[in-house]
Amino acid sequence: KKVEYILNTPVDYLTMTDIKQDLSWYFDHHQKMVLASINPQIILISEKNKCVKSFIEHATHRFADGIGIVKMSQWTNGRIKERVAGIDVMASVLEFCHENKKSIFLYGAKPKVVAQAARNIQKDYSNIRVSGWLDGYDKKSSGEIIDIINQHHADVLFVALGSPKQEEWLQRYMPQLNPTIFQTVGGSFDVYSG
Ligand code: UDP
Repeated sequence: KKVEYILNTPVDYLTMTDIKQDLSWYFDHHQKMVLASINPQIILISEKNKCVKSFIEHATHRFADGIGIVKMSQWTNGRIKERVAGIDVMASVLEFCHENKKSIFLYGAKPKVVAQAARNIQKDYSNIRVSGWLDGYDKKSSGEIIDIINQHHADVLFVALGSPKQEEWLQRYMPQLNPTIFQTVGGSFDVYSG
């Protein structure tokens, strides 16, 4: 695997094509695929936050979300040449789910936002089963939230709690969660709700 360390944070040389091709491999092998969006902000956070650092170290796909990482790569050896926007990765995952009749769960954002994003995604990708969603301000315990997500038997979990909450949450609870594909998506539900 080709990886470059930017301020001690691993970032993979990945294109959108690589990510798309890997999706079916992880389903076929029943292994968890973790798509982590890396931007300069999260690199700076991970310098001080061990949980975030560990999340990034263990993620299977750490893509350079934005031109900031491509610029930072130029200070070292410049091998990360292509930016891969998180919203485009989410769109690719949704496309894959539509083509392969997979189910998704949305966790995060404000109640009205996540509900509308779920409706819009369902409308645009008719073969996807939007198995459920939960807003990112819900006061239930982590155990209850994990149970809710697992009871929906989704293939893909998108987590939109903002950074570093979404990275910390996934780092702590991923071992207990049953989806196959995980992606930290920041403000993407807000985009899909529009
Ligand atoms: N968010 C959430 N729970 C929180 C804090 C934030 O669900 O406790 C959601 C927020 O509503 C938004 C998303 O996280 O939909 C991303 O927030 P922001 O744009 O601040 O994060 P970034 O994209 O910069 O990481």
